[in-house]
Parts: sequence; C-alpha cells; structure tokens
Amino acid sequence: MIAVAPGHLLLIATPIGEPDDITLRALRALREVDELYAEDTRVTADLLRHHGISRATRSCHDHNEEARAEEILAHLRMGRSVGLVSDAGTPLISDPGFRVVARAREAGFAVDVLPGACAAIAALVGSGLPTDQFCFAGFLPASGPALRGRLAELAGFDGTLVFYESPRRLRDALTIIAEVWPTREVVVARNLTKAHEQWITGNAAVAAEVLGDEARGEVVLLVGRGVAATVDADDRIRTLLGEGMEPRRVRDVVAAETGLPRRDVYARVLALRE
Ligand code: SAM
Repeated sequence: MIAVAPGHLLLIATPIGEPDDITLRALRALREVDELYAEDTRVTADLLRHHGISRATRSCHDHNEEARAEEILAHLRMGRSVGLVSDAGTPLISDPGFRVVARAREAGFAVDVLPGACAAIAALVGSGLPTDQFCFAGFLPASGPALRGRLAELAGFDGTLVFYESPRRLRDALTIIAEVWPTREVVVARNLTKAHEQWITGNAAVAAEVLGDEARGEVVLLVGRGVAATVDADDRIRTLLGEGMEPRRVRDVVAAETGLPRRDVYARVLALRE
C-alpha cells in the first residue's frame, strides 16, 4: 500500500464522530506525510492521540487559507508531501481546502484523495430516501427570506435534497419547509456515529414537533423529491382540490412543489375547479 508519495497533496478524510471510522491508509498518511495541515490543530491532535500518533500540525482554515496555499505550494515544489484534514469528515465538503486544491492543480501537482466519512453521504444512505439522484446543497441560508428563495430554486430538482444545518436554526428551517413543502418526506439525521445518534422521519411539521426544543448536536437535513416533480401538476391540483383544499392554498403548495410560477398554477387551479 502506497500511502504517501513525494510532492503530492493528500486530502485525508477523518471521522464524523466515532474516532475509529478512519481508513488504514489515512492513518498511515497522517503518520507519514512530511507536513500536515489541519482546520483546527486541537481537534486533529485529539484524533491523532486516539490513534497513538504524535506529530506536528499546522493550521489551515477559512481565515488563513490563501497564505497557507502559498506555503503548501512551496512544500510541494521542494518535493515534500502535504496532508490536509478538516475537523470532521471529508475536507472541502463545507470545509476549507478548495483554494489549496485549485492552486495545487493549477501548478500541476498531483492531488491524492484518501476517501472516507462524509456526513451528507452517511445521512443519505441511512435515510430511506431515494439515492438514485441527490443534490447536496451545503448549509441552508440563515435568514427566512433567503431560505425561502433557496427552497424555490431547488423546488424543481427531481431527487433527494441534502442540507447541513445548525441545530439552533433547525426548528425555524423545518417550520418554513412545512409551509412551502407540507407533503414532502423529511429526515433529520442527528449526531451520526455518536452516542446520541437520532433519526427523525416524517414531514417537516412532524419533524419539528418530534425535535421540540432540542438544539444541540450536528444535523443533516434531507428532503424527499416533490410529489409533483414525478406526478403531473394537474393531477396534483385535482388531488388537493378533491381533498377539499382551498384554491389559493393549492396554488401555493403546487407552485412550491413544482417550481412552476404561482400565476400559472393558479390559472390551472381555477380551470380544473370548473
Ligand atoms: N466535511 C464534513 C463532512 O464531510 O461531512 C462536513 C463539515 S461541515 C463544517 C459540518 C456539518 O456537517 C455539521 O454542521 C453538520 O451539518 C454535518 N455533520 C458533521 N458531522 C455530523 C454528524 N456526526 N452527524 C450529523 N451531521 C454531521
């Protein structure tokens, strides 16, 4: 097994909770790379200690990545191997490292990926939601209007949506999702691989209720595809009208589910009500 080659940049995935969820190759690379850069050196020191590795690390985070990229390129030019890790999971996935990798590739250096844990993928495969097509959309915007705008952009995507979300904002996000996508399946995957792992399934209103005031831990939020993305919008309108839903509410629900303009949907609602 070749873990480390001279002059290579290595992107090393680390655990998302359970410290033993790490590959043999990653452990060897953490020991053997000439230089190791970590998002938070204290977090990485804990992981290294758990695995009996004692070595120096340097920081590379959002606020110093530009300067560190220069430094890392200088190491690579001298033929030194450089490892990059983040606090948890796969570096660059909602974590620093993009600028370093872009610069290294631009300069013609080899980039080796040592794959491993990623919270988005762990949550997706355990969620019970379809995995054939999914969209990882990073962190949801913090403000209500921006969040609604983001949901509208993603409304037409015909697959599972995967978000990272702060536990403090989760309840508010679920409340908005319950308004715009009341019928979509929702899964909250909390504290994966940790002691208090929790899966909440249902629609957004149910998930908000089960969650209650709990605002701790780490969370992946998944939303199933819209019914109307796979079913004709007219069928959906007929079904909702048949269930006695008020026409303006039908317009809002179907427009949110399909991404079709509200005006067009409302015209169909009125036509089909006749
Ligand atoms: N690079 C990481 C990865 O590969 O998953 C993600 C880093 S991002 C800064 C951190 C976010 O990932 C958290 O806010 C949470 O949404 C999600 N996350 C990380 N660990 C998790 C876990 N054990 N359970 C659920 N979500 C987790």
